Amino acid sequence: KAPEKMLTKELCNKRKPQPAVFIPVDRLPEIQAARLKLPVLGEEQVIMEAVRENMCVVLCGETGSGKTTQIPQFLYEAGYASGDGIIGITEPRRVAAVSMSQRVAMEMNMSTRVVSYQIRYEGNVTSDTKIKFMTDGVLLKEIQKDFLLQKYRVIIIDEAHERSVYTDILIGLLSRIVPLRRPMKLLIMSATLRVEDFTENKKLFPRPLPVIKVDARQFPVTVHFNRRTPTDDYVGEAFRKICKIHRMLPPGGILVFLTGQAEVHSMCRRLRRAFPFRSNRTGLGDDPKDTEEERKWFKKAKQKKMLSLPRINLDNYSTLPVDEGDEDRQAGIGDEEDGSDLDLELGDDPGDEGLEKCDPMLPLYVLPLYSLLAPEQQGKVFRPPPAGTRLCVVATNVAETSLTIPGIKYVVDCGRVKKRFYDRVTGVSSFRVTWTSQASANQRAGRAGRTEPGHCYRLYSSAVFSDFQEFSEAEITRRPVDDLVLQMKDLNIEKVVNFPFPTPPSMEALVAAEHLLVSLGALEEPPRDMERVRLSCPITPLGRAMAAFPVAPRYAKMLAMGKQQGCLPYVITLVAAMTVREIFEETDRPAASEEENAKMAQRRARLGQMRRLWAGQGASLLLGDLMVMLGAVGACEYAGCTPKFCQENGLRYKAMLEIRQLRGQLTTAVNAVDPEARLYLDAKMAPPTESQVLCLQQIVLAGLGDHLARRVQVEELLDPKWHNGYKTPLLDSPVFIHPNSVLFKTLPDYVVYQEVLETSKMYMRGVSAVQEEWIPQILPRYCHFGPPLEDPPPRFCPDSGRVKCHCKSTFCTWIRQELPIFW
Ligand code: ADP
Ligand code: MG
Repeated sequence: KAPEKMLTKELCNKRKPQPAVFIPVDRLPEIQAARLKLPVLGEEQVIMEAVRENMCVVLCGETGSGKTTQIPQFLYEAGYASGDGIIGITEPRRVAAVSMSQRVAMEMNMSTRVVSYQIRYEGNVTSDTKIKFMTDGVLLKEIQKDFLLQKYRVIIIDEAHERSVYTDILIGLLSRIVPLRRPMKLLIMSATLRVEDFTENKKLFPRPLPVIKVDARQFPVTVHFNRRTPTDDYVGEAFRKICKIHRMLPPGGILVFLTGQAEVHSMCRRLRRAFPFRSNRTGLGDDPKDTEEERKWFKKAKQKKMLSLPRINLDNYSTLPVDEGDEDRQAGIGDEEDGSDLDLELGDDPGDEGLEKCDPMLPLYVLPLYSLLAPEQQGKVFRPPPAGTRLCVVATNVAETSLTIPGIKYVVDCGRVKKRFYDRVTGVSSFRVTWTSQASANQRAGRAGRTEPGHCYRLYSSAVFSDFQEFSEAEITRRPVDDLVLQMKDLNIEKVVNFPFPTPPSMEALVAAEHLLVSLGALEEPPRDMERVRLSCPITPLGRAMAAFPVAPRYAKMLAMGKQQGCLPYVITLVAAMTVREIFEETDRPAASEEENAKMAQRRARLGQMRRLWAGQGASLLLGDLMVMLGAVGACEYAGCTPKFCQENGLRYKAMLEIRQLRGQLTTAVNAVDPEARLYLDAKMAPPTESQVLCLQQIVLAGLGDHLARRVQVEELLDPKWHNGYKTPLLDSPVFIHPNSVLFKTLPDYVVYQEVLETSKMYMRGVSAVQEEWIPQILPRYCHFGPPLEDPPPRFCPDSGRVKCHCKSTFCTWIRQELPIFW
């Protein structure tokens, strides 16, 4: 019997009615009216009945059906947050945690002291909080502190279909926690119907979970495939498609899916240039009602003499100061080209009806949306666009499921997604743009039918679509799991292989993680004669200390080692800077024009100079890119961490704020682990002394020991491709120091790196020099002492997991042949 059949209304009514608790919420009438239109409202009774009767319930409903915003409110009204327990909701993305908490607070007409959020660096949770939105990582950390999650009465795992690693682990853990915590409730919410991994997984839940389906999409979406074979220039195609939609189709917002931040920005630029945004008011930018952004635009437009044009007419488009080459011009005007592409669903004559309905002069209000965007910028997409404009949101897949943007009628889907790929053995990561899955593509299409019937334009053919994977695979199968293994060991789950993962990670990944943790000293070394690592090494006291830090094990080790020569504040800053994404502004992106190119070259040179200045001279220079990070943070804090300073010096302001917050958080964590440290955060710290720099280099070596690289000597140069290359234990091919690195010209003999990122070459990022003689002291496990052995030394090979491995091209060979020459 299908589990969802179990929960008909009839069945619910038969059951003994429970005493009804009802906590009234004082909503504004317009909010109440809008809520009533949401599909989940119609199912409120069924949902609440199911929650009352079951420990765990799965709720499936299309994006936009009201799961995230309404379910917490139902639970609140039903009294699940009265008394001491609170309602917790986890989101895989920070953006969603923040914006959803604000939305729900607004809908309930309550303060953010009651409906709050907590993400890694910040939050507004108070003792009054009743509904708490958080990222899944935050809840995992809380489980470590309090395994039973005593604070919570209900846990909602939202966006479970995304299959993020933490979500998967949380579901595994909660399947054990909830039965111990009756009457605690668990709700798993998914935007797709593919939930068997949770519901039919006997390892997780002995009995199949009840599934409630909410039928949602209120309006039909017509999907249009491209009939031509897709080209690689999907950004160009998307641009042309938007131009057509905007010129020919009736009003309604456009949402465009691209793959990354750089693409989003370049598209916004192109669109703004093609359809300048003009205020309907005075049109001169001096209206007091003009927003800051409008004023800025007018200022720029005046400089570019755009405003001397009478009124923006699309057919005049080629006379606008377009500096992006012919591409734009071609796209904008009268490209009757092949009729095949004109299937804009306007009846037989594609042109007429559309032109009749829309004002071709309608300005386009273009907004970017991606996860690193500053929150106040992100918030703009939820507000109505200025009167008389058409909204066009250029987004990455953030907009796919977590956020519902009002008023979208047209979706343009490039069909691609940018994913991070890891090599399980070597840990090398690269970003690649690949086709997305059918499920994702359908999600994207669904964004168009929110307020009225919509259209989705896919920039690929239906043949290509049918080749897509049906679903995206769970993240856990695609990334290293060392952080998870450490967290789980700290929860005393010794045999990680036996953990009830919804989808288990590969054996290879588990073995690699266990090795890394053993080599960092976080797990006890297994007996040498063990044929295969049994993946059950117990955690060490060092491992426990490491697990208390909210960072990956390599960085946690640095923090644990940092208590020497007063280095801790620097280590904290370094770790904070290394774990925050992209602290430096990107300067390598292709420029749109000659002029811009020259400007960017100038800026690059200046920023390079700045970086060398931060790196300093002599000893500190050898700390390399890490010294640059320290210097940048220090300089920024001395300058008061202003947006202006960051802009001028090529730093990402948001990253700097995150670093500051993370420093505070790590300082607290260090004090908790080691109360004797008595650390306090001094944002403006003095530069490290020379001996401190040496100490820091060694601490970095201790943490990044498995990321050690040795420069290939001239006499070893068998192949020119190894010129200036470095050899690493796990890779067959050379890795290089990036030209942006301050060590690019120094080329030290030994370096450690933060990560290898494969772009045009295998480049190391975050490079720091180390001295040869430190290696045997700090990484004895990695060295063989004495004359070279005939037999391979007994080591665990990361490839096979075997103790005595005879393979080539891995650690074993390197240790045996490269290092022991003089030790
Ligand atoms: P689900 O979680 O099922 O995808 P949500 O609860 O996120 O759906 O959204 C329900 C509705 O609430 C959507 O139709 C959307 O229009 C509206 N909504 C959500 N967030 C906001 C917001 N920040 N501003 C305006 N409307 C919003
Ligand atoms: Mg949602």
